[in-house]
Amino acid sequence: MQENSWQIYKFGGSSLNNSDCILNVCNLIKENSSQNLIVVVSAMAGVTDQLVDYSESRNQSILDKIADRYRATINETIQEESIHEALLEEFSNDLKIINELAESYSEKSIKTEENQILGFGEIWSSRLIQGVLNESKDQRDIHLLDPLEIITLCKTEMGVNVDWGESKKLFSESLSDKNGVFIMAGFIAMSSDSIATNLGRNGSDYSASIMGSLAEAESVSIWTDTDGIMTADPNQIDSAKTIEQMSYDEAIELAYFGAEVIHEKTMSPLIDKDIPIYIRNTFNPESKVTKISSALIEGQSVKGITTIENITLVNIEGSGMIGVPGTAKRLFSCLSDAGISVILLTQASSEHSICFAIDEQFSDQIEDVIKDEFSDDFSIGNLQEIEIQNNASVIAVVGSGMTGTKGIAAQFFRAITESEVNVMAIAQGSSEKNISVVVSKDDLHRAVQFVHNSFFTGKTKLIIGLVGLGNVGEEFYRQVDTQKEAIYKDFNVEINFVAMSNSSHMVLSDTISQSDIASLKGRDQSCQASNVEEMIKFLNDSPGNIKVLIDCTASDVIPDLYARCFEAKINVITANKKGLSGSIDRYEDILESAQENKCNFLYETTAGAALPFIKSVKDFTASGDKIKEIEGVFSGTWPICLILLMVKNRSLKLFLALRIKVTQNPILGMIYQAWMWREN
Ligand code: ASP
Ligand code: MG
Repeated sequence: MQENSWQIYKFGGSSLNNSDCILNVCNLIKENSSQNLIVVVSAMAGVTDQLVDYSESRNQSILDKIADRYRATINETIQEESIHEALLEEFSNDLKIINELAESYSEKSIKTEENQILGFGEIWSSRLIQGVLNESKDQRDIHLLDPLEIITLCKTEMGVNVDWGESKKLFSESLSDKNGVFIMAGFIAMSSDSIATNLGRNGSDYSASIMGSLAEAESVSIWTDTDGIMTADPNQIDSAKTIEQMSYDEAIELAYFGAEVIHEKTMSPLIDKDIPIYIRNTFNPESKVTKISSALIEGQSVKGITTIENITLVNIEGSGMIGVPGTAKRLFSCLSDAGISVILLTQASSEHSICFAIDEQFSDQIEDVIKDEFSDDFSIGNLQEIEIQNNASVIAVVGSGMTGTKGIAAQFFRAITESEVNVMAIAQGSSEKNISVVVSKDDLHRAVQFVHNSFFTGKTKLIIGLVGLGNVGEEFYRQVDTQKEAIYKDFNVEINFVAMSNSSHMVLSDTISQSDIASLKGRDQSCQASNVEEMIKFLNDSPGNIKVLIDCTASDVIPDLYARCFEAKINVITANKKGLSGSIDRYEDILESAQENKCNFLYETTAGAALPFIKSVKDFTASGDKIKEIEGVFSGTWPICLILLMVKNRSLKLFLALRIKVTQNPILGMIYQAWMWREN
C-alpha cells in the first residue's frame, strides 16, 4: 500500500437497499481494504424521500416505517450483541432528535439544505456498515469519519460553496497521518455558521468528489446498479453496452441531456485535479466499468444516445421578428422570470420563427407567459402565431469526437429516416458535441432503436411472419433455422420468426421455435385459431428493422391482405401464385401498394427444376434490354434446360445448366452457370 494514497468509494441508495445489499457492499469493501479507502454512503433507497415526507407532514407512521426497516436490517446483518445494542440505542436517540427538529420546523417552511432531519439516512447507513465490518475479526479497524468535521461550506457571491481552505485543513488534521478504511455519511456538511447542513438532494456523489479532491485521491469510484454508463438506456435497448472510456466533457453533456451520469457540479473538484472517476456495478463488480477522465479517446465519435421524454415544443412565428434585434432576448428573459428553462432551441436563418423545447410541466403556463410579454407584438401583427405541441421527446447523440467529424449528422438522420419517424425540430450546438432532434413521444423508442443500431451494434433485426406450413413452409423454416447463425455471423442480420400459422391455428411469440411448430401441427390447445389479420398486427407491433410476411399457402384470400402489410411497412415474399396469376386488377393493386409504401414484394418462378428465372429476366431489363419473346424447354425432370430470350433486335442466348449442390439445403444452395453471347 502506498502511504497517503487514497481511493474513494461511494455507494448510492440502490446499493444499500436491504440487508443482502448491505452485506454485499461490506464484502466489496473487505476485498479492497488493503488500500487506504474512504467509503462515502447514501441513505438506504427511499429513506431521504420518507424523511422529506415526514418533515412536511409530521406523520409518525412514516417514521415508524423507517424504524422497522432499519431495526430489521440491523438484526439481519449484525450478530454481535454489543454492536447490535449500541446501534439500536443510537438510533432511538436519533428518533428523539428528529421529533424535536420536526417540532421546531413546524411553524415555518424549511429549505432542503437547512433541514437537518434529511441527513439521518446517511448517518444510519454509515454506522451500520461500520458495525458489520467491525464484526468480522479479520478486519483492520474500521473508522467512522464525521463529515461535519471535514466538509465545511462558505457563502460566496455565487451562493454556497465548499470552503476549500478550511476543509483541507480539517482533512489534514484528521487523516494526514492515518491509514485504513474510513466510512463516511455522504450528503451532509457543516455550514459557515457551524450548523449541520446538506449538499442538496443527490448530494452524496458531491461528498465523494469533495473527499476525492481533499485527499488528492488516485480515483473516485461511484458504485451503482448498472454496468457503468451505457450507450443507451438498457431498459429500453437490450443491446446497450458499457461506454468504457469517456471524457469529463462527454459525461457532462450526457448528464445534461438526461442520462443518469454524475452531475457537472459533482465532477468539477475532480476535473480540476484530473482525478479519474469510475462508474461501477455493485451487483456485478466484475463487469465492465466506465472510466471518466481528461483523456480524449480516439475512435468512436458518438459516445452515447440519451433522451428526454416529456417535453413540449413551442414555435413562435411572425414577420415582425425578421431583422429586429432583441426578440430572443425578451423571450428568454420572460421564460427565465417564469422559472422555465429552455432545453433546446432552433431559429431558422429567415428569422421568421423561433422554436424551443421546454419541460412538459410548463406546458399550461407557456402560452400566457409569452402572450404577456409580447401582447403588443401580437396585437399589431408583428407576431402571428404561437404553436404548442405536447408529447414530444428529445433524442441526442453525444460525443466529443463528433467535433469536426464529417458524416455523423448524416448517419443520425439516415437512421431516423429508416425508422420512418418524423423529425419535429433539430439542434446542434456549435461545440458539435451533441446533435439533438425532437420527435413525438410515441415514436421515441423506435427511433432510439434505429439510431443505437446504426452507431453501436450495426445489427439488423429481421422478423418473419410465416403463413402456410405445408411442405414448402416447413422446409423454408427448417432451412432458415439451420442457417440463422451463419447469416448472423456473416451479415449481422438476426432472423426471428414471430408469427406462424397453418390453415387452422397460429402462434404469436417473440421467438418461435421447433416446438411451436410441433404444437401447431398437432393443433394443440396452446395454439389460437389462425387469423392472418392478427398476425399482421402482431408483426407491426413487434420490434424489428425489417419485417416480412411470407406466404407459403395456395390461398386465394391472403393476397387480398398484402396491401395491409405494405401499409404497415411489412414486406411480402410469396410462393403463392394466386396474387400474381389471378385478376390483373388485383395484381396491379398489389404492385401499386408495395411501391407507394416503399416495400418489397418478392416472388420467383423457376425453370429447369428450381433455377430462378424472374431474377434473370429482371437483370436483363435492368441493364437496358427489352424482352421481345421468351422461348424455352421448361422441364421439371431434365436437369439441363435452355431458355432463349429474344432481346430487341438482337437475340441473347442463355443456357442454364449444371445443377451444383453446394450445401445440404437444395433450395437455397442451387446455383447455376450461364454463358451468354450475342448474335447480331
Ligand atoms: N440521500 C440523499 C438523497 O436522496 C443524498 C444521495 O443519496 O445522494 O438526496
Ligand atoms: Mg444518487
